[in-house]
Amino acid sequence: MNPMNPPPFPPDSDPRSVQRVRQPPKARLIEVRRVRRITPSLLSITFGGDDLGDFTSAGFDDHVKLLLPTPGVPFELPRPPDGPPPSGPRDGPPPGGPRPNMRDYTPRRFDAQARELEIEFAMHGSGPADDWARTAKVGDRLGIAGPRGSFVVPMDFEWHLLIGDDTALPAIARRLEELPAEARAIVIVEVDGPDDRPPLAHPVRTEFTWLYRAARDGRIADAGAARTLAQATGSLQRPAGEGYAWAAGESTAIAEVRRELVGVLGLDKSRVRAAAYWKRGATGHHEKLEG
Ligand SMILES: Cc1cc2nc3c(=O)[nH]c(=O)nc-3n(C[C@H](O)[C@H](O)[C@H](O)COP(=O)(O)OP(=O)(O)OC[C@H]3O[C@@H](n4cnc5c(N)ncnc54)[C@H](O)[C@@H]3O)c2cc1C
Repeated sequence: MNPMNPPPFPPDSDPRSVQRVRQPPKARLIEVRRVRRITPSLLSITFGGDDLGDFTSAGFDDHVKLLLPTPGVPFELPRPPDGPPPSGPRDGPPPGGPRPNMRDYTPRRFDAQARELEIEFAMHGSGPADDWARTAKVGDRLGIAGPRGSFVVPMDFEWHLLIGDDTALPAIARRLEELPAEARAIVIVEVDGPDDRPPLAHPVRTEFTWLYRAARDGRIADAGAARTLAQATGSLQRPAGEGYAWAAGESTAIAEVRRELVGVLGLDKSRVRAAAYWKRGATGHHEKLEG
């Protein structure tokens, strides 16, 4: 190791390190209780079911895998083969049955008493999850698997930077609700237009920057196609004190945001979490951006 570049925190001495919480894989059958349009592009679906009795979600950016039904076929959880599997499934339904389409979604809100889980869908127009959510009605069933693991980011940073597109809004909304009232949050979100801003509860010291894809001539740029998020990130004044930056959205857009966070704002990599929540032209994409 180069002594000129010691790690910012000697091993095990970082008082603000992110805690990782693991959970055993479990698939659950749930059914739609309510459907609510939040904005033209954001649809909330609340699910219920006895299987949610032991559901927990420790991190604001946790994800469950939706196990999507085949259109026209009543949904059942894939059955495990007889006897315990030799090694547990990595992430998803038990092995043995036909593999349903799976997509990652954020547990936006969980009510343990009512056994209700809310998920918010950014409606983008095509894909099994989008199709399913658009036509979902009370009583429809599907499966979820996970969350398998959580990253618990400490709340006591001097500032919290949250960046993303419509798909990141559920995690951002959850984080803003969970932060203490005295926290400072800086939020940069790209959506189609002003009508696509959902109401968000937030700490008093929260600064929002909303970026719109809609141009004056009425045309709307494709999501994730422009460097808008990266430009807004790079033009930030780095706040005083120690902070944590979280970003999620389209793969290329978020890779550029990450470069700005580390290369331009000079944030330490241990204080940045950036995730590709989807990728233009790819189905069912998921990747964490590192290095
Ligand atoms: C950890 C994690 C948490 C996530 N949480 C949420 C969440 O809470 N809410 C949410 O809405 N999404 C969330 N996503 C993103 C969601 O999983 C993807 O958008 C997923 O691709 C949607 O599946 P689909 O079947 O609708 O489309 P796919 O079959 O995966 O893709 C079909 C086509 O649509 C494009 N596409 C996919 N998503 C978008 C989009 N948002 N905008 C424009 N084009 C798109 C793809 O590039 C592809 O060309 C999350 C992703 C991850 C990895």
